[in-house]
Amino acid sequence: MDLKQNVQYLKGIGPNRAKLLNGLGIFTIEDLINYYPRTYEDRTNIKKIEELQDGETALVKAVAVTGVTSYRIRKNMSISKLLVEDGTGKMQVTWFNQDYVKTRIKPHEVYKFYGKVIKKSGKTEMDTPIFDEEGENKNTSKIMPVYPTTKNLSQTAIRQAMENALQMIEMQVEDPLPEYIKKKYSFMEKTNAIQKIHFPNKIEDIKNARKRLAFEELLTFELALMSLKSQYKSEKRGIQYSKDVYMSDVINELPFKLTKAQLRVLEDIDKDMESQKPMNRLLQGDVGSGKTVVSIIASYKAVKSGYQVAIMAPTTILASQHIVNFNKILEKYGIKCELLISSLTKKQKETVLNKLKNGEIDIIIGTHALLEENVEFKNLGLVVTDEQHRFGVKQRATIAAKGENPDVLVMTATPIPRTLAIIVYGDLDISIIDELPPNRKKIDTIAVKSNMTERINNFIKKNVDEGRQAYIVCPFVDENEEMEDIKSVEKLAKTYKEEVFKDYNVEILHGKMKPKDKEKVMQDFKENKISILISTTVIEVGVDVPNANIMVIENAERFGLAQLHQLRGRVGRGEFKSYCVLKYEGNSNIIRQRMETMVKTDDGFKIAEKDLELRGSGEFFGTKQHGLPEFKIANIFEDIELLKIAQALAIQIENEDPELKNEENAKLKKLVNKLREEKIEL
Ligand code: ADP
Ligand code: MG
Repeated sequence: MDLKQNVQYLKGIGPNRAKLLNGLGIFTIEDLINYYPRTYEDRTNIKKIEELQDGETALVKAVAVTGVTSYRIRKNMSISKLLVEDGTGKMQVTWFNQDYVKTRIKPHEVYKFYGKVIKKSGKTEMDTPIFDEEGENKNTSKIMPVYPTTKNLSQTAIRQAMENALQMIEMQVEDPLPEYIKKKYSFMEKTNAIQKIHFPNKIEDIKNARKRLAFEELLTFELALMSLKSQYKSEKRGIQYSKDVYMSDVINELPFKLTKAQLRVLEDIDKDMESQKPMNRLLQGDVGSGKTVVSIIASYKAVKSGYQVAIMAPTTILASQHIVNFNKILEKYGIKCELLISSLTKKQKETVLNKLKNGEIDIIIGTHALLEENVEFKNLGLVVTDEQHRFGVKQRATIAAKGENPDVLVMTATPIPRTLAIIVYGDLDISIIDELPPNRKKIDTIAVKSNMTERINNFIKKNVDEGRQAYIVCPFVDENEEMEDIKSVEKLAKTYKEEVFKDYNVEILHGKMKPKDKEKVMQDFKENKISILISTTVIEVGVDVPNANIMVIENAERFGLAQLHQLRGRVGRGEFKSYCVLKYEGNSNIIRQRMETMVKTDDGFKIAEKDLELRGSGEFFGTKQHGLPEFKIANIFEDIELLKIAQALAIQIENEDPELKNEENAKLKKLVNKLREEKIEL
């Protein structure tokens, strides 16, 4: 039996069912057996009738007091009834439209019933149970898998297909884990794990099978990351920047003193730049920790050593802001910075591209526009990507390929717990700025319901009257949002603009606006020509307006905590006392806990941890938002211990057999290569 065969060749799977399975991403037998249950029904635990609870689904072993009586209550509806007892009590069993039970159940015989219990006025009933004869284990006395499914495809149909598939492929699933690993960690064989994940005999089987399968995923992932990392390090000869260009020359001229953390990180970067291996470094630091200036100083070193620098930012607004900051510090050293964004005219763009190619521009700051093919450098030496979760590995590689093994610095404010970062960013070296500049004011955060709206609005007015500025952030309206959502935000914005704050300068900013218009609004806000900016999350990253001291977030319950923290980081950047108001709806425990976390905590890393802890209650907090990889069965947060083991083992394998040449690692190698092609290809 070939695992690559189409599911349609399975017994009981015709073209229709095959189509439904295809809709679930199942095309081959292999896909099917790797389609894991969402949860399980434990039908092994026999309960006494007297201890049954209303509403529970339970297994009861009882004798039929009489035979089944069936009768028709409507044209298309028949009822079959049976009274059973187990020595502790009696139970009325009812089936609808299942007349056949009459022929299956005989008086005075013992059966096992599994179904939903209803208790009313002292009587116990069970609604449409499935059942087995006493000695039979077809539907009961088992742990049943429950699969994610789709309309018209029943659990029974999937289970049946799975059973058939597993019978056919028995002992044929290749086990990529070498014997020595399985032995060391007492993992079961792959075939066994697959059998048990679908049809466990006992609850413990599920845990062990899951662990075995998750470990394989995590180990493969770690090995793939490590092979990437060693590829950068061994094959490539990077640029060796001049030891005679001193970062300290810039550092000593800055208008502020760098924090210890910034200095430490710069030391890491300086070492990387002077070494002949290409730098591949992730710089993590909470919002406002001062990552930009770090990249400015690194750029200085690159330019003064004779190379060009590319700074890639996720939005035009950010890119425009960066160029101001770069110029402020670097202009006096004769370093030339230019902007490359999509709103340039064709002619302007041409000029920039030409200058870039012949080396008249030292630092180019831009958006995705930098990735385009016609962007060529004379000698690109350093690539910095800001807010890297917006850029994939591939994009990073695309821009890096415009130079000859340039150094790469990836900056992110998306905090993930340190332990996790070290593991999942295994292909990058990591530096962390874990300290904010000393001039930072604590931001007061409050969480309120809509009944506080008027007071909040008055508070904004009072602050604006004193010369401050405010952000009001609404969810939705990013590049991919629906028209409906845009309308609702526009309506809210209109109310603010034309009614609530009609005596104030109010403007709207959202992702659907033309880049030029966005820039204009942002520029006006920076210059305090706009007092209240109603915006979507386009301002989430990096925007720096020290005079703005209030951030109101509408429908805060719709954002992930990490994102709320990013947004909040837009205020508290100047000398003024700053406030963040989270307006939320809903009363669920999770929502309340999330709001409380935001109110009580201002440490991005702690918030990230809490976000992950409260995860699982909605898609927002999924791994995607953190830019983390998704697995089939493993969960990097819940399986952190397993991940640590996998990482340690991957390091050991990497040391002993870096190219996975040993016979025992051959199958692992196949998996690693496959993963690299699919997921993290460079
Ligand atoms: P982020 O890490 O969020 O990108 P930025 O680089 O935008 O933060 O820095 C936020 C603000 O803090 C900027 O206005 C920057 O000039 C300022 N800043 C950076 N480092 C320091 C420092 N060591 N002391 C005082 N202000 C600093
Ligand atoms: Mg930044």
